[in-house]
Amino acid sequence: SFRAIVIEDVEGKQKAALKDLTLADLPDHDVLVDIAYSTLNYKDGLAVSGKRIARSVPMVGGIDLAGTVAESRSADWKPGDKVIVNGYGLSERHWGGYAQRQRLKPEWLVPLPAAFDMRQAMAIGTAGYTAMLAVMALEDAGLTPEAAGDREVLVTGAAGGVGSVAIAVLSKLGYKVAAATGRPETHDYLGGLGATSFVAREELAEDAKPLEGERWAGAVDSVGSRTLAKVLAQTAYGGAVAACGLAGGADLPTTVMPFILRGVKLLGIDSVMAPQALRRRAWERLGKDLSTEKLAAIGSETAPLTAVPELAGKILKGQVRGRVVIDVNAS
Ligand code: NAP
Repeated sequence: SFRAIVIEDVEGKQKAALKDLTLADLPDHDVLVDIAYSTLNYKDGLAVSGKRIARSVPMVGGIDLAGTVAESRSADWKPGDKVIVNGYGLSERHWGGYAQRQRLKPEWLVPLPAAFDMRQAMAIGTAGYTAMLAVMALEDAGLTPEAAGDREVLVTGAAGGVGSVAIAVLSKLGYKVAAATGRPETHDYLGGLGATSFVAREELAEDAKPLEGERWAGAVDSVGSRTLAKVLAQTAYGGAVAACGLAGGADLPTTVMPFILRGVKLLGIDSVMAPQALRRRAWERLGKDLSTEKLAAIGSETAPLTAVPELAGKILKGQVRGRVVIDVNAS
């Protein structure tokens, strides 16, 4: 048998606990993977805390995994292949990466990117790959360091997973990066990743006027709600904002003014069902544009499966800095 974090219904509430499973318990998908690492994302925090991310129970949590193919009924994968999975409904509709072994559909797997080992791939995880998708979307919308000129690109939820990787990548690409955080104690960490100035979280959480002074060449937003509305109102003419998350709320109390008077573009980012070609391009870009030194600073914490329930509560309270790697084989 092997261990997994299983979400179950307990008296009408979803609860997660460490359980022993056998191969016979796993879903009948074509590729069996021996998992080495998973990780902790905001969505994992929601799922493991019973916030109804799992659409059916029992559900093995973990939206990300990295491991080695043990058995395959698919011609696309053979034993020994090193692979990663991000999203595709893991921990929602399909059993995920908080387990020592898992069976998966061949079309969900991506080869372990050449630039990273399995631990590094999970230090990036869905959060980091989403940050890269956001940066690529900003580029597709016309953002370049030249177009930005003296204006900064803003990253909200800066000390979180998406935010940390976005800062590291944007700074490597030559942008001036402003980091919006509610934790002043992370300024040194964020400066080390390449942030050149800081904005207090509360400042962006105030109600926005329809248009405010043009401040940002573009933005990567993990927070949503009033913060995203504020960022839109402060984005410079022709700029773009990538909406990735809802750490501050799922609403968006804005007006159309930034769109119709400044041509500001609001770009939706989804990592879960992103097509294979796009995700492979994002991982390739991470290999080029995320330095291993900065990645080491972002993903410095490793924890065992037993720590996941407690860590889930911490990430929802905004108390996790950077990224936490889960070593599923550690005790
Ligand atoms: P995370 O590590 O917890 O980062 C979120 C950050 O947001 C926190 O570190 C904190 O940063 C800030 N924050 C937390 N609570 C807040 C609040 N109430 N108001 C304002 N700011 C708050 O989470 P993550 O894994 O990076 O994910 C970030 C967001 O992106 C989540 O909403 C997640 O669901 C979403 N996401 C979406 C996709 C997608 O496919 N679209 C993929 C991955 C993640 P500071 O302490 O620096 O202020």
